[in-house]
Amino acid sequence: MTHYATVICGGGPAGVSAVVAAAVQGRLEEFLDRGVLLVEATGRAGSGSIPHYGIRANSLGSAFLECLDGPAGSGLLAGLADSAEARELRGWADEYPPLPVVGAFLTLVGERVVDALRRHPRCDALLGHRVVEVRTGPERATVLLSGPDGELSHTGDRVLLTMGGRERTELAPDALAALVERRPGLRVLSSGEVITDPSWHPDAASPHRALGSIAVLGGAHSAWAVAAHLARLARAGWFAGPVEVTVVERRLPPIFYFSAAEARAEGYRWDEADVCGPSGRVHRFGGLRGPARELARQVMGLAAEKAPDGFGQVVLDGPWTAEALEAAVGDADLVITALGYDARLPRLLGADGRELELARPRGAVDTGRDGLPGLAAGGRAERLVMYGLGAGLVPSEETGGEPGYRGRLDGVWVYQHDIGAVILRALLANDRTEDGR
Ligand SMILES: Cc1cc2nc3c(=O)[nH]c(=O)nc-3n(C[C@H](O)[C@H](O)[C@H](O)COP(=O)(O)OP(=O)(O)OC[C@H]3O[C@@H](n4cnc5c(N)ncnc54)[C@H](O)[C@@H]3O)c2cc1C
Repeated sequence: MTHYATVICGGGPAGVSAVVAAAVQGRLEEFLDRGVLLVEATGRAGSGSIPHYGIRANSLGSAFLECLDGPAGSGLLAGLADSAEARELRGWADEYPPLPVVGAFLTLVGERVVDALRRHPRCDALLGHRVVEVRTGPERATVLLSGPDGELSHTGDRVLLTMGGRERTELAPDALAALVERRPGLRVLSSGEVITDPSWHPDAASPHRALGSIAVLGGAHSAWAVAAHLARLARAGWFAGPVEVTVVERRLPPIFYFSAAEARAEGYRWDEADVCGPSGRVHRFGGLRGPARELARQVMGLAAEKAPDGFGQVVLDGPWTAEALEAAVGDADLVITALGYDARLPRLLGADGRELELARPRGAVDTGRDGLPGLAAGGRAERLVMYGLGAGLVPSEETGGEPGYRGRLDGVWVYQHDIGAVILRALLANDRTEDGR
């Protein structure tokens, strides 16, 4: 058993970007000298689930390349700017790149991080190892791993939980199950299933082409992104006949604009709480971007281009009961759920060996403004830091953003929103281990 200042559980974009953030801030040596262990279940770090999504990013290509500027570009990530992967991504600098293109670049970033950790005498990277359990205590946390040679444990002053998210597929109280009971034969897929399944690719000969009516439940980015994918297929004549696609949401979707003037010129309605003070952007964090934004603007009549025939939205602002859903989805043959993500977690135990239950206000883990997850029993979990898919931070003055935003900042956004500084501070908060290093 080895002790580290930081144990990173999960080496996807979020986990790896903790190391990248240190490099970007010129603090890599300081961070690594204290001891960092990265544990990743697969044989590859950096890209996590990104390469599996067959859709476009909601960030411009340039956002992912920003990590190459400054100290990281001449140190940890030196030479990466000239790689074929970075060059391909640079071709998308001002556009929304396909996520597999982003994934290829992030895999290179992950290789650099793994290499740096393995070369440092106080650090290590264990690929092909699964985090099974984290037991927190007043002095340190113990992480139980399972690898090719069996189980092993290491300890950390801080444990960063970045194991990605699980898609939520049910509405309380079992409204979807009740809907399916009322409408036998209605198929239900999650948005993750649709965008990772090759049978939804533009060149697939697939039974889905015969669908005539699809409802997408949920009004956030994942819902509009999957609807935009369907719009792309519809425009290409992929469906055998006319298709109706309806996004069912609780309120009209927030749209990102670079400025209030730009939003005003399009006739988009917003209020002061939707504007980020420092940047002047409208719905800077919560707004739809990329192809999702384009489709929503077309459906709302804000864009010059029209949405494909049959594409629309229904705002269901009352309770989402089976009856209300049945009316909203109409005669849909398929319902696609896009209900957000919750954090994927290992077994979490407190110092007394009892299960540690995290608070889940609004159905997902709350990591506050500092990345420290709240406990169901009150207070914050000792020694745990979390972010990434399903566990994003609440925006603060430091990260900026629109005051009215009630969502969280997750995942790859660390490259866009200076979240790395917040996470690094949380990780370095307890900077001395017992042996004084
Ligand atoms: C459809 C979709 C589109 C998106 N598009 C964008 C975008 O355009 N721009 C953007 O900024 N963000 C985007 N996101 C968010 C993006 O997916 C996430 O930001 C990013 O993948 C999250 O990274 P992560 O590290 O939190 O999770 P993941 O990518 O899921 O990585 C988690 C990692 O943890 C590992 N792991 C899991 N369990 C264990 C375990 N027990 N032990 C050890 N390791 C484990 C996994 O193998 C994986 O490598 C999108 C998300 C979705 C769902």
